[in-house]
Amino acid sequence: MTKKNATVLLIYTGGTIGMIQDNLSGELRPFDFKSLTKQIPELNKLDIELSSIAFQKPIDSSNMNPSIWIDLAVIIKSNYKKYDGFVILHGSDTMSYTASALSFMLENLNKPVILTGSQLPIGIIRTDGKENLITAIEIAGAKEKGKTIISEVCIYFEYKLYRGNRTYKYNSDHFDAFKSPNYPTLAEAGVEIKYNKNALIKKNKKKLIVHTKIENNIAVLKLFPGINKKITSSILNSKEIKAIVLESFGAGNASTETWFINELKRAINKGVIILNITQCSEGKVIQGKYETSSQLKKIGVISGADLTFESAITKLMFLLGQENNINNIKKSLLSNLRGELTV
Ligand code: ASP
Repeated sequence: MTKKNATVLLIYTGGTIGMIQDNLSGELRPFDFKSLTKQIPELNKLDIELSSIAFQKPIDSSNMNPSIWIDLAVIIKSNYKKYDGFVILHGSDTMSYTASALSFMLENLNKPVILTGSQLPIGIIRTDGKENLITAIEIAGAKEKGKTIISEVCIYFEYKLYRGNRTYKYNSDHFDAFKSPNYPTLAEAGVEIKYNKNALIKKNKKKLIVHTKIENNIAVLKLFPGINKKITSSILNSKEIKAIVLESFGAGNASTETWFINELKRAINKGVIILNITQCSEGKVIQGKYETSSQLKKIGVISGADLTFESAITKLMFLLGQENNINNIKKSLLSNLRGELTV
Protein backbone atom coordinates (compact mmCIF):
# COMPACT_ATOMS: atom_id res chain seq x y z
CA MET A 1 0.00 0.00 0.00
CA THR A 2 1.44 3.41 -0.92
CA LYS A 3 1.96 5.85 1.92
CA LYS A 4 -0.63 8.62 2.05
CA ASN A 5 0.24 12.29 2.42
CA ALA A 6 -1.30 12.82 5.87
CA THR A 7 -2.83 11.01 8.83
CA VAL A 8 -6.05 12.16 10.47
CA LEU A 9 -7.82 10.87 13.55
CA LEU A 10 -11.61 11.11 13.49
CA ILE A 11 -13.31 11.28 16.89
CA TYR A 12 -17.05 10.67 16.92
CA THR A 13 -18.88 12.09 19.96
CA GLY A 14 -22.42 11.92 18.62
CA GLY A 15 -24.92 14.31 17.07
CA THR A 16 -27.03 14.07 13.97
CA ILE A 17 -24.14 13.54 11.57
CA GLY A 18 -23.39 9.99 12.68
CA MET A 19 -26.92 8.69 12.34
CA ILE A 20 -28.57 6.58 9.70
CA GLN A 21 -32.22 5.90 9.17
CA ASP A 22 -33.39 2.37 9.87
CA ASN A 23 -34.90 1.02 6.63
CA LEU A 24 -37.82 -0.63 8.42
CA SER A 25 -38.73 1.62 11.33
CA GLY A 26 -37.52 4.95 9.88
CA GLU A 27 -35.88 5.62 13.26
CA LEU A 28 -32.58 7.53 13.44
CA ARG A 29 -29.77 5.65 15.17
CA PRO A 30 -25.98 6.04 15.39
CA PHE A 31 -24.18 4.00 12.75
CA ASP A 32 -21.17 1.80 13.33
CA PHE A 33 -18.12 3.92 12.69
CA LYS A 34 -16.08 0.95 11.62
CA SER A 35 -18.16 0.96 8.46
CA LEU A 36 -17.60 4.65 7.79
CA THR A 37 -16.08 4.10 4.37
CA LYS A 38 -19.09 1.99 3.45
CA GLN A 39 -21.30 5.00 4.11
CA ILE A 40 -18.91 7.40 2.41
CA PRO A 41 -16.73 5.50 -0.11
CA GLU A 42 -15.33 8.86 -1.30
CA LEU A 43 -13.13 8.84 1.83
CA ASN A 44 -10.97 6.13 0.25
CA LYS A 45 -10.02 8.53 -2.54
CA LEU A 46 -8.49 11.12 -0.20
CA ASP A 47 -4.72 11.14 0.09
CA ILE A 48 -5.22 10.83 3.84
CA GLU A 49 -4.91 7.82 6.09
CA LEU A 50 -7.91 7.86 8.36
CA SER A 51 -8.37 6.25 11.76
CA SER A 52 -11.37 6.66 14.01
CA ILE A 53 -12.41 6.52 17.63
CA ALA A 54 -16.10 6.50 18.51
CA PHE A 55 -17.55 7.25 21.93
CA GLN A 56 -19.18 4.12 23.26
CA LYS A 57 -22.35 6.02 23.95
CA PRO A 58 -22.74 8.77 21.33
CA ILE A 59 -24.47 11.82 22.80
CA ASP A 60 -26.75 14.56 21.62
CA SER A 61 -24.55 17.59 22.16
CA SER A 62 -27.09 19.10 24.58
CA ASN A 63 -25.61 16.59 27.03
CA MET A 64 -22.08 17.88 26.48
CA ASN A 65 -20.17 18.71 29.66
CA PRO A 66 -16.66 19.61 30.86
CA SER A 67 -15.74 16.01 31.66
CA ILE A 68 -16.20 15.14 27.97
CA TRP A 69 -14.09 18.17 26.98
CA ILE A 70 -11.39 16.70 29.21
CA ASP A 71 -11.78 13.27 27.53
CA LEU A 72 -11.40 14.92 24.12
CA ALA A 73 -8.33 16.90 25.20
CA VAL A 74 -6.74 13.72 26.58
CA ILE A 75 -7.48 11.77 23.37
CA ILE A 76 -5.77 14.53 21.38
CA LYS A 77 -2.82 14.60 23.77
CA SER A 78 -2.22 10.88 23.61
CA ASN A 79 -2.50 10.78 19.80
CA TYR A 80 -0.79 14.11 19.10
CA LYS A 81 2.46 12.73 17.74
CA LYS A 82 0.82 10.01 15.67
CA TYR A 83 -1.53 12.19 13.59
CA ASP A 84 -1.21 15.32 11.49
CA GLY A 85 -4.71 16.48 12.33
CA PHE A 86 -7.93 15.73 14.19
CA VAL A 87 -11.59 15.89 13.20
CA ILE A 88 -14.24 15.82 15.92
CA LEU A 89 -17.77 14.90 14.91
CA HIS A 90 -20.12 16.70 17.24
CA GLY A 91 -23.74 17.81 17.42
CA SER A 92 -24.10 21.36 16.21
CA ASP A 93 -26.13 22.61 19.20
CA THR A 94 -23.17 23.06 21.54
CA MET A 95 -20.34 22.74 19.05
CA SER A 96 -19.19 26.34 19.62
CA TYR A 97 -18.85 25.71 23.37
CA THR A 98 -16.71 22.60 22.82
CA ALA A 99 -14.58 24.36 20.20
CA SER A 100 -14.05 27.33 22.55
CA ALA A 101 -13.26 25.13 25.55
CA LEU A 102 -10.76 23.02 23.60
CA SER A 103 -9.07 26.12 22.23
CA PHE A 104 -8.24 27.17 25.80
CA MET A 105 -7.37 23.67 27.01
CA LEU A 106 -4.90 22.98 24.16
CA GLU A 107 -2.10 25.49 24.64
CA ASN A 108 0.58 25.75 21.89
CA LEU A 109 -1.55 23.70 19.52
CA ASN A 110 0.36 23.31 16.27
CA LYS A 111 -2.00 20.96 14.47
CA PRO A 112 -5.56 21.28 13.18
CA VAL A 113 -8.47 20.26 15.38
CA ILE A 114 -11.59 20.61 13.23
CA LEU A 115 -15.10 20.16 14.63
CA THR A 116 -17.90 19.40 12.26
CA GLY A 117 -21.38 17.94 12.22
CA SER A 118 -24.51 18.30 10.17
CA GLN A 119 -28.13 19.32 10.20
CA LEU A 120 -29.25 16.11 8.42
CA PRO A 121 -27.94 12.60 9.19
CA ILE A 122 -25.31 11.17 6.90
CA GLY A 123 -27.59 8.36 5.72
CA ILE A 124 -30.20 10.77 4.32
CA ILE A 125 -30.01 11.63 0.62
CA ARG A 126 -29.95 15.42 1.09
CA THR A 127 -27.47 15.27 3.94
CA ASP A 128 -25.06 18.13 4.49
CA GLY A 129 -22.95 15.70 6.54
CA LYS A 130 -20.97 14.18 3.67
CA GLU A 131 -19.58 17.45 2.39
CA ASN A 132 -18.90 18.70 5.90
CA LEU A 133 -17.07 15.53 6.86
CA ILE A 134 -15.05 15.08 3.66
CA THR A 135 -13.88 18.70 3.57
CA ALA A 136 -13.17 18.81 7.33
CA ILE A 137 -10.91 15.76 6.87
CA GLU A 138 -9.28 17.34 3.83
CA ILE A 139 -8.55 20.53 5.80
CA ALA A 140 -7.23 18.55 8.79
CA GLY A 141 -4.76 16.80 6.47
CA ALA A 142 -3.91 19.76 4.21
CA LYS A 143 -0.21 20.58 4.16
CA GLU A 144 2.09 23.17 2.70
CA LYS A 145 5.83 22.50 2.54
CA GLY A 146 5.29 19.36 4.59
CA LYS A 147 3.46 21.12 7.43
CA THR A 148 -0.26 21.31 8.15
CA ILE A 149 -1.79 24.66 7.22
CA ILE A 150 -4.05 25.00 10.26
CA SER A 151 -2.82 25.04 13.85
CA GLU A 152 -5.91 25.89 15.87
CA VAL A 153 -9.35 24.63 16.91
CA CYS A 154 -11.86 25.33 14.14
CA ILE A 155 -15.42 24.62 13.09
CA TYR A 156 -16.06 23.59 9.50
CA PHE A 157 -19.67 23.90 8.39
CA GLU A 158 -21.37 24.50 5.04
CA TYR A 159 -18.30 25.46 2.99
CA LYS A 160 -16.75 27.68 5.65
CA LEU A 161 -13.94 27.20 8.14
CA TYR A 162 -14.19 29.35 11.26
CA ARG A 163 -12.04 29.96 14.32
CA GLY A 164 -14.00 27.87 16.82
CA ASN A 165 -13.90 30.32 19.72
CA ARG A 166 -15.35 33.09 17.53
CA THR A 167 -18.48 31.21 16.53
CA TYR A 168 -22.01 30.67 17.72
CA LYS A 169 -24.87 28.61 16.34
CA TYR A 170 -27.40 31.05 14.95
CA ASN A 171 -29.75 28.92 12.88
CA SER A 172 -31.42 25.64 13.75
CA ASP A 173 -32.91 25.07 10.26
CA HIS A 174 -30.38 26.16 7.68
CA PHE A 175 -27.35 24.15 6.59
CA ASP A 176 -25.43 27.39 7.07
CA ALA A 177 -25.83 27.20 10.86
CA PHE A 178 -22.85 29.11 12.28
CA LYS A 179 -21.67 32.69 12.36
CA SER A 180 -18.39 34.30 13.34
CA PRO A 181 -19.54 37.89 13.70
CA ASN A 182 -16.33 39.51 14.90
CA TYR A 183 -13.65 37.53 13.05
CA PRO A 184 -13.23 36.63 9.37
CA THR A 185 -13.65 33.07 8.08
CA LEU A 186 -10.38 31.13 7.96
CA ALA A 187 -11.13 29.34 4.70
CA GLU A 188 -13.85 28.87 2.11
CA ALA A 189 -14.41 25.69 0.18
CA GLY A 190 -15.45 26.19 -3.42
CA VAL A 191 -13.86 24.47 -6.39
CA GLU A 192 -10.70 24.85 -4.32
CA ILE A 193 -10.25 25.39 -0.61
CA LYS A 194 -9.05 28.98 -0.25
CA TYR A 195 -7.29 29.79 3.01
CA ASN A 196 -7.35 33.26 4.50
CA LYS A 197 -3.68 33.01 5.50
CA ASN A 198 -3.51 36.36 7.31
CA ALA A 199 -6.31 35.33 9.64
CA LEU A 200 -4.74 32.05 10.80
CA ILE A 201 -2.92 31.51 14.10
CA LYS A 202 0.78 31.14 13.32
CA LYS A 203 2.65 27.98 14.26
CA ASN A 204 5.06 28.13 17.18
CA LYS A 205 7.85 25.83 18.25
CA LYS A 206 6.54 25.29 21.78
CA LYS A 207 5.41 21.99 23.19
CA LEU A 208 1.68 21.23 23.45
CA ILE A 209 0.34 21.78 26.97
CA VAL A 210 -3.00 20.16 27.71
CA HIS A 211 -4.96 21.74 30.58
CA THR A 212 -7.53 19.46 32.14
CA LYS A 213 -8.86 21.47 35.08
CA ILE A 214 -12.20 23.18 34.64
CA GLU A 215 -14.18 25.10 37.28
CA ASN A 216 -17.88 25.47 36.66
CA ASN A 217 -19.05 27.50 39.66
CA ILE A 218 -20.16 30.30 37.39
CA ALA A 219 -23.49 31.85 36.40
CA VAL A 220 -25.01 34.19 33.86
CA LEU A 221 -26.89 37.40 34.55
CA LYS A 222 -28.73 38.52 31.42
CA LEU A 223 -30.10 42.03 31.82
CA PHE A 224 -33.55 43.12 30.73
CA PRO A 225 -35.61 46.21 31.51
CA GLY A 226 -37.51 45.44 34.70
CA ILE A 227 -34.96 43.04 36.16
CA ASN A 228 -35.80 42.41 39.78
CA LYS A 229 -33.58 43.23 42.76
CA LYS A 230 -34.32 40.05 44.76
CA ILE A 231 -33.56 37.72 41.88
CA THR A 232 -30.45 39.67 40.83
CA SER A 233 -29.25 39.51 44.42
CA SER A 234 -29.88 35.78 44.68
CA ILE A 235 -27.79 35.13 41.56
CA LEU A 236 -24.94 37.38 42.71
CA ASN A 237 -24.95 35.88 46.19
CA SER A 238 -25.24 32.22 45.19
CA LYS A 239 -23.08 30.05 47.39
CA GLU A 240 -19.79 28.94 45.80
CA ILE A 241 -20.15 31.41 42.93
CA LYS A 242 -16.76 32.42 41.51
CA ALA A 243 -17.66 34.38 38.40
CA ILE A 244 -20.59 35.81 36.51
CA VAL A 245 -21.02 36.55 32.83
CA LEU A 246 -23.01 39.78 32.69
CA GLU A 247 -24.92 40.04 29.42
CA SER A 248 -25.41 43.76 29.06
CA PHE A 249 -27.06 46.02 26.48
CA GLY A 250 -25.41 47.44 23.35
CA ALA A 251 -21.81 48.50 23.89
CA GLY A 252 -21.77 47.11 27.44
CA ASN A 253 -24.39 49.26 29.10
CA ALA A 254 -26.50 48.56 32.18
CA SER A 255 -28.96 50.27 34.50
CA THR A 256 -27.44 53.01 36.66
CA GLU A 257 -29.96 52.41 39.48
CA THR A 258 -28.19 52.51 42.82
CA TRP A 259 -29.45 49.10 44.02
CA PHE A 260 -28.12 47.41 40.89
CA ILE A 261 -24.65 48.95 41.04
CA ASN A 262 -24.46 48.25 44.79
CA GLU A 263 -25.33 44.58 44.29
CA LEU A 264 -22.56 44.22 41.69
CA LYS A 265 -20.13 46.14 43.91
CA ARG A 266 -20.84 43.90 46.89
CA ALA A 267 -20.23 40.75 44.81
CA ILE A 268 -16.96 42.13 43.39
CA ASN A 269 -15.76 43.06 46.89
CA LYS A 270 -16.43 39.47 47.96
CA GLY A 271 -14.12 38.26 45.16
CA VAL A 272 -16.66 37.38 42.45
CA ILE A 273 -15.39 38.14 38.94
CA ILE A 274 -17.92 39.89 36.71
CA LEU A 275 -17.25 39.68 32.98
CA ASN A 276 -19.26 42.05 30.81
CA ILE A 277 -20.25 40.93 27.30
CA THR A 278 -22.90 42.36 25.01
CA GLN A 279 -26.29 40.87 24.18
CA CYS A 280 -25.77 42.03 20.58
CA SER A 281 -24.52 39.28 18.32
CA GLU A 282 -22.01 41.59 16.65
CA GLY A 283 -19.83 44.39 18.02
CA LYS A 284 -18.19 44.79 21.40
CA VAL A 285 -18.29 46.13 24.93
CA ILE A 286 -16.58 49.49 25.44
CA GLN A 287 -16.92 50.36 29.11
CA GLY A 288 -16.92 54.13 29.51
CA LYS A 289 -18.38 54.92 26.09
CA TYR A 290 -21.75 55.76 27.68
CA GLU A 291 -22.56 56.98 31.17
CA THR A 292 -24.44 53.67 31.60
CA SER A 293 -21.21 51.68 31.44
CA SER A 294 -18.81 54.07 33.22
CA GLN A 295 -20.14 52.94 36.60
CA LEU A 296 -19.40 49.30 35.73
CA LYS A 297 -15.81 50.17 34.89
CA LYS A 298 -15.42 52.13 38.13
CA ILE A 299 -16.54 49.28 40.38
CA GLY A 300 -14.26 46.73 38.69
CA VAL A 301 -16.44 44.91 36.16
CA ILE A 302 -14.14 43.34 33.53
CA SER A 303 -14.80 44.18 29.89
CA GLY A 304 -15.24 41.09 27.71
CA ALA A 305 -14.83 43.28 24.59
CA ASP A 306 -15.92 41.16 21.58
CA LEU A 307 -15.93 37.72 23.25
CA THR A 308 -18.78 35.47 22.21
CA PHE A 309 -20.99 34.14 25.00
CA GLU A 310 -19.53 30.66 24.41
CA SER A 311 -15.98 31.95 24.73
CA ALA A 312 -16.78 34.02 27.82
CA ILE A 313 -18.21 30.96 29.60
CA THR A 314 -15.41 28.57 28.66
CA LYS A 315 -12.60 31.09 29.19
CA LEU A 316 -13.85 31.68 32.73
CA MET A 317 -14.20 27.93 33.39
CA PHE A 318 -10.68 27.38 32.06
CA LEU A 319 -9.00 30.26 33.94
CA LEU A 320 -10.76 29.49 37.23
CA GLY A 321 -9.59 25.90 36.87
CA GLN A 322 -5.97 27.02 36.46
CA GLU A 323 -5.51 29.26 39.47
CA ASN A 324 -7.00 31.07 42.45
CA ASN A 325 -5.33 34.44 42.10
CA ILE A 326 -8.16 36.77 41.08
CA ASN A 327 -5.86 39.48 39.73
CA ASN A 328 -4.08 37.01 37.44
CA ILE A 329 -7.43 35.69 36.21
CA LYS A 330 -8.63 39.25 35.51
CA LYS A 331 -5.41 39.98 33.59
CA SER A 332 -5.86 36.85 31.47
CA LEU A 333 -9.50 37.75 30.78
CA LEU A 334 -8.30 41.01 29.26
CA SER A 335 -5.62 39.23 27.18
CA ASN A 336 -6.02 37.47 23.88
CA LEU A 337 -5.03 33.88 24.71
CA ARG A 338 -6.11 31.87 21.64
CA GLY A 339 -7.38 34.39 19.14
CA GLU A 340 -10.72 34.69 20.96
CA LEU A 341 -10.49 38.43 21.62
CA THR A 342 -9.67 41.56 19.67
CA VAL A 343 -7.43 43.71 21.85
N1 ASP B 1 -29.34 18.03 18.69
C1 ASP B 1 -28.23 17.69 17.83
C2 ASP B 1 -26.94 17.85 18.63
O1 ASP B 1 -26.50 18.93 18.85
C3 ASP B 1 -28.21 18.55 16.62
C4 ASP B 1 -27.06 18.27 15.71
O2 ASP B 1 -26.47 17.22 15.73
O3 ASP B 1 -26.71 19.15 14.93
O4 ASP B 1 -26.40 16.84 19.07
